[in-house]
Amino acid sequence: MTESKSKKFIDINVKTFKDLDYKIIKTDKCCSCGACIAYCESQNFNVIEMNDYIPSFKTEKNIDNCNECGVCYYICPQTSPLLEKLCEAYNIKDKIGNIIKILSAKTTNAAIAKVGQDGGVVSTILAYLFDKHKIDAAIVSEFDKNLKPIPKIVFDKKDLLKSAGTRYSISPQIIPLKDLYHISHGFFTKRRIFNIDQLRMAFIGTPCQCRAISKMRFLRVKPAHVIKYIISLFCFENFEYNKLYDILRKETNVAPNNIKKTWIKKNFFISTKKNEEIEVDIKKLDPAIRKPCHECNEFTGQFSDISIGSSGAPKGYSMIITRTEIGYKIIKSLLSYGLIEQFIIPASENRDWINKKLNWYNQLISLKANKK
Ligand SMILES: Cc1cc2nc3c(=O)[nH]c(=O)nc-3n(C[C@H](O)[C@H](O)[C@H](O)COP(=O)(O)OP(=O)(O)OC[C@H]3O[C@@H](n4cnc5c(N)ncnc54)[C@H](O)[C@@H]3O)c2cc1C
Ligand code: SF4
Ligand code: SF4
Ligand code: SF4
Repeated sequence: MTESKSKKFIDINVKTFKDLDYKIIKTDKCCSCGACIAYCESQNFNVIEMNDYIPSFKTEKNIDNCNECGVCYYICPQTSPLLEKLCEAYNIKDKIGNIIKILSAKTTNAAIAKVGQDGGVVSTILAYLFDKHKIDAAIVSEFDKNLKPIPKIVFDKKDLLKSAGTRYSISPQIIPLKDLYHISHGFFTKRRIFNIDQLRMAFIGTPCQCRAISKMRFLRVKPAHVIKYIISLFCFENFEYNKLYDILRKETNVAPNNIKKTWIKKNFFISTKKNEEIEVDIKKLDPAIRKPCHECNEFTGQFSDISIGSSGAPKGYSMIITRTEIGYKIIKSLLSYGLIEQFIIPASENRDWINKKLNWYNQLISLKANKK
């Protein structure tokens, strides 16, 4: 898209962070993606910051630094001005979004299979992109010792194992991009990258975060220009970290630092470091659901190259939806190199298999809309 075309989408009455604060943040619609902060800080405007997952002006004095460019407002995944054009760009015509291919598969890498949440497909894609020198880095999420999600840029395939698995609370995935221009020069020299703008990254996030990154790429704003691949996780809902682990501790008597893995299969499950498996009624977690998730109409992550989730997949496999040619080519390569193994649909179900999955996703999306 040309620069003049992008400018066409900016209103004359430019909305600014004050509008974002009033319309999105103060009304509990902010999904804490970090896009507004990442853009503003990467430009050294020194206006806004994120505290306890809420963006705000740094201080009263910093308000004057705002040059009212409006970018934070337009790239926010919860604002509407760009959505129609973005849907056109991603060929989105229904609630599930564009599908080039839908399949189920699992990793063939034993180390990833051990730590992956479902089929380990996300980590396998990232490992492949690193191996084939298609990316220099990836934005993933790690846990701290109390299972708090920490968004992180990893520069090496060997760091992927730490990031595998799902964190069921917010990991503000776009925040690390605020420091893009402060990445250590040592890394670049080692990789023979002489200009930060040449960096190539993959981005992993929830559907709302992928929508924000897609808006940034659509408007061609830095620092999202380094994101070359967008991988969305399916997402029915997300939880407030403190509330989630308070409830889990009350229900199971297990502290976060003694939990090995969590997963959702109708109910919420934890496995402890002593290898006990405990089931928690998912309804008990309702008070911990994040407020913007109550009003979210995305499930499969339409604004991405590839969407991945477990809903509808056989045990140990992931469901994969390729959305763009780039996404389709990656999955095709993974299959042809034997890096993932496709689930063979039983002949008796062949005709209905995909339709059943799509019906199920439509039902889940309607359920989301009705749970407000
Ligand atoms: C909050 C949340 C809710 C989800 N809800 C559903 C659902 O309802 N139905 C469904 O089918 N699937 C859901 N998923 C996706 C599912 O849990 C798996 O992440 C997905 O199937 C990929 O599994 P995998 O084995 O291929 O990934 P892995 O190889 O294990 O890699 C997982 C990747 O996800 C990243 N990640 C983990 N947690 C987060 C996070 N909080 N934010 C951003 N990135 C993260 C990791 O860094 C890693 O790169 C949800 C994921 C999240 C984060
Ligand atoms: S300078 Fe621009 S991006 Fe930063 S807060 Fe102001 S309007 Fe938003
Ligand atoms: S851009 Fe993201 S972090 Fe900023 S207000 Fe919007 S949803 Fe919240
Ligand atoms: S339910 Fe929607 S708003 Fe909540 S984390 Fe998932 S994609 Fe974002």
